[in-house]
Amino acid sequence: MAGNDPIAFVRDNRERYLDELRAWIACQSVSADPERHPQVRRSAEVAVARMQAAGLDDCTVLETDGLPVAYGSWLKAAGAPTILIYGHHDVQPEDPIALWNSPPFEGTVRDGKLYGRGAVDDKGQVLMHLAALEAHLRTRGALPLNVKVVVEGEEEIGSPNFESFLARERERLACDVVVVSDTAVFAEDVPSLTVSLRGLVHWEMTVHGPASDLHSGYFGGLVVNPIEALGKMLASLRAPDGRIAVDGFYDDVREATSQERAEIAALPYDALREAKVLGVPVLAGGERNRAPLERSWLRPTLEVNGVWGGYQGPGHKTIVPSWARAKISARLVANQDPAHVKRAVRDHLQRAAPEGVRVEIEADGDVRAVSTSRDHPAVRAAARAMERGFGKPPVFIGTGGTIGPVSSFDRILGLPQVLIGVGLPDDAIHAPNEKFDLKQFYGGIETMTYLYDELAEALR
Ligand SMILES: [Zn+2]
Repeated sequence: MAGNDPIAFVRDNRERYLDELRAWIACQSVSADPERHPQVRRSAEVAVARMQAAGLDDCTVLETDGLPVAYGSWLKAAGAPTILIYGHHDVQPEDPIALWNSPPFEGTVRDGKLYGRGAVDDKGQVLMHLAALEAHLRTRGALPLNVKVVVEGEEEIGSPNFESFLARERERLACDVVVVSDTAVFAEDVPSLTVSLRGLVHWEMTVHGPASDLHSGYFGGLVVNPIEALGKMLASLRAPDGRIAVDGFYDDVREATSQERAEIAALPYDALREAKVLGVPVLAGGERNRAPLERSWLRPTLEVNGVWGGYQGPGHKTIVPSWARAKISARLVANQDPAHVKRAVRDHLQRAAPEGVRVEIEADGDVRAVSTSRDHPAVRAAARAMERGFGKPPVFIGTGGTIGPVSSFDRILGLPQVLIGVGLPDDAIHAPNEKFDLKQFYGGIETMTYLYDELAEALR
């Protein structure tokens, strides 16, 4: 019997949580596929029903300008702080389906892991919170703080309507801290809290040469070849030492602290093994004099994502092409201003264009990096909860990736965020055979059960 101990309660109910996760996975909530949008809505309804069963109030489907959000709250802890738990219930497409070892939308347990689309990203991690909230309410009849739960339906397609939703629902969503469980730990048996995410901006450029493709015999050597011009311009973006050679690109970039460098050095990371896994001889991209994890988490990067133009069919076609195009993106770190970076790179490329071509550049994207102080009381509380849930104090890590909604919370609501996810790096999210290790799932439920007590204590 669980009595009034929420931890005993969650241990008694593990089988049920697994069944609930399986039932939720069965909703094919693929936001990228318009034909399955009714299932995304169904998935939001499943989340709402689960919140209701957990004992939350005001459980409802909230509309956005796109796919729906599931919402529930419990606001009876008068005078206590309020947290907002964010997650998402939409999932990535399952293809290529032939590579799955069990049907993607039938949660299947093998070797202590639950396989299925959305198992860890993010249905399973949302369920950890709903199970923990329920455990508090069932055993103690109350939560130690006020809670709002927001489960989005468009995260996997870039959350196109989330910022306008946040702006519109600002009052309903008011809180002291945002808790997000949509990240992974550094490695198995290395509990981790993510304290930085990078931002993201994009460019698409076209180099225009002659009005049409030209005969290379007649006109080669007379007009500038746009592909060659593009190649030179792209090559000019990086200096031989790996730095981005764009004036102003590093303005505002904060240097890593000695504490951050020491934390990175202490992590179990093997650059040679990583290179092997990635199929490259050595990790030679980026700034030479910095450790790989510093480059990935604390330094900005600029990458050419695609280049096209000219003749690509069979055999030979001897032309000077009329145009060439490239797509470029940059990941930003704390304090960098997306607008400033977009302008700096555009100006650089325009200046680097050789005489004889015309260049058009469009920039978009506006996602700032997010970083949370590891000394914030909420982050310290999360660290204590994780230590209690997994038996070891967590390490602090960054991620080179970007979570748009996290940046939106930062920008629209100006709130500190705790990124407390428990996935493993080999969970195959977005890929065939996505799984959630049950040890992580159950440890995560216990961590969240402790988290609410710790946050209530730390934020009072
Ligand atoms: Zn996710």
